[in-house]
Amino acid sequence: MVDDALPDEFTLIRRYFAPLATHAGAAGLGDDVALLAPAPGAVHVLKTDTIVEGVHYLSDDPADMVARKLLRVNLSDLAAKGARPVGYLLAASLSRTTREPWLAAFVSGLAADQKEFGLSLLGGDTTATPGPTTLSVTAIGEAMADRVPRRGGAKPGHDVYVTGTLGDAALGLRVLKGTLRVEGSELLARRFRLPEPRVTLGFEIAAVAAAAIDVSDGLIADLGHICEESRVAAEVERDAVPLSAPARAAVMANSALWTDILAGGDDYEILFTAPPGLSKSLPGVSRIGRIVAGDGVRIRDAKGQLFDVKVPGYRHF
Ligand code: ADP
Ligand code: MG
Repeated sequence: MVDDALPDEFTLIRRYFAPLATHAGAAGLGDDVALLAPAPGAVHVLKTDTIVEGVHYLSDDPADMVARKLLRVNLSDLAAKGARPVGYLLAASLSRTTREPWLAAFVSGLAADQKEFGLSLLGGDTTATPGPTTLSVTAIGEAMADRVPRRGGAKPGHDVYVTGTLGDAALGLRVLKGTLRVEGSELLARRFRLPEPRVTLGFEIAAVAAAAIDVSDGLIADLGHICEESRVAAEVERDAVPLSAPARAAVMANSALWTDILAGGDDYEILFTAPPGLSKSLPGVSRIGRIVAGDGVRIRDAKGQLFDVKVPGYRHF
């Protein structure tokens, strides 16, 4: 039998986590805490996300992909606020069945995305748990203090925009479950497995956006959050919603899939509002509707008919 049990806590931190602590303020994880100062005129932007084995990922999902998705969902929140990623804290409660190769793969996923997005591990905590593995990342970004678009900034008369394409991840989950077959389905599955946080674009959007949010719960739910915090309503033109080629093919073949596209989650695009006449044209950004007085989100089809979507975003409770 191979002995691939986890080493003791301190060896584990030294061997696996310390090499990821590239930021000087983390002191190679050789202290109790990390120190961080924002640049003059900047603020720190903070966000935590937790994932639980058996809830957000499966025990046999590749550990490097679990790590990258965990980091990326946090980076997506930072991106929506125009923040450049700086670092993160990691609280890892590892199940008693965790083997060292799993941890090594998990750490290699973190290393890959640290490099891709330019951030450092800053600290964290490591424990064993009799329950399922629970992983929590607190991401820290830096934004210009006067350039952080909040959920509450939308006003009647604003246009509503979204980056990239919507619905790919929800349709990708169908592909992986075997309930959708369409040409180009690999793209859909890839979008579900590994989100692409819009970090660079988010920084540019923050310069022009009045309100912004990342689309993690689905377009309707997340636009609903903007409307609620801004005390306004939104009207979306369904046919202006940007779709990838496979998503378009899928919904042409089965219009019931509009529900997945409009209400499904995990897109990790940025949804934002801006006053009319967005002077600076942003690449990969589509106008999908407008903000009006009132409350709630209404979707209209090509004929201007209200389009009813019943399924809300995923809720844990
Ligand atoms: P304490 O005994 O005060 O809880 P630890 O021994 O847990 O401290 O942590 C020692 C150092 O290692 C600290 O700098 C802490 O931030 C870091 N650390 C512990 N676990 C992790 C982890 N999972 N990821 C990153 N850093 C960690
Ligand atoms: Mg301590």
